[in-house]
Amino acid sequence: MTVNDKTFVPFIPAESIQNRIQELASQINQDYADKKPLLVVILNGAFLFAADLMKNLTIPCEITFLRVSSYKGTSSTGQLKEILGLTEPIASRDLIVVEDIVDTGRTLNDICEQLRVLGPSSLAIATLLFKPEALLKPMKLDYVGFEIENRFVLGYGLDYDGLGRNSADILVLE
Ligand code: 5GP
Repeated sequence: MTVNDKTFVPFIPAESIQNRIQELASQINQDYADKKPLLVVILNGAFLFAADLMKNLTIPCEITFLRVSSYKGTSSTGQLKEILGLTEPIASRDLIVVEDIVDTGRTLNDICEQLRVLGPSSLAIATLLFKPEALLKPMKLDYVGFEIENRFVLGYGLDYDGLGRNSADILVLE
């Protein structure tokens, strides 16, 4: 597949993605058997993953969506991405933050820091993809779909210049 000037080749086929999501969902079904988690989906990239994950959950659960701004304020940690659009009260809720990919981990770190201030009962992370080589500081990822090498991927919600999200397979930059 060619997107603008770049060529992407097959990487993770749709069937493997769906099988892995079923495994993650059954783990979550067990771990949250007596709970009613709130899925907090990071837009835009995680929308397909969140939809397929939620379809495979059999426990009572709810969903909400947020974005991170490209606005960068300053904090002790340097640049901070602000969370936008969170309307749901999350105090005393069991949160599962749903992300498409953890690269340096900066985005998720900022989000989790800001969510924790709002007093959830618990906070877990589900990410479809994880690039361990790119991670800047250690963080606990509770549910990981696939660990991948440090290469640029697209498809299944992930874009390049806004395109490619509609591919059912994940592709990698040639
Ligand atoms: P981090 O803050 O962990 O460095 O970056 C996370 C965000 O960067 C992801 O939510 C995603 O939007 C973007 N990102 C990181 N790696 C990739 C990649 O390989 N492909 C695409 N399409 N986006 C990526």
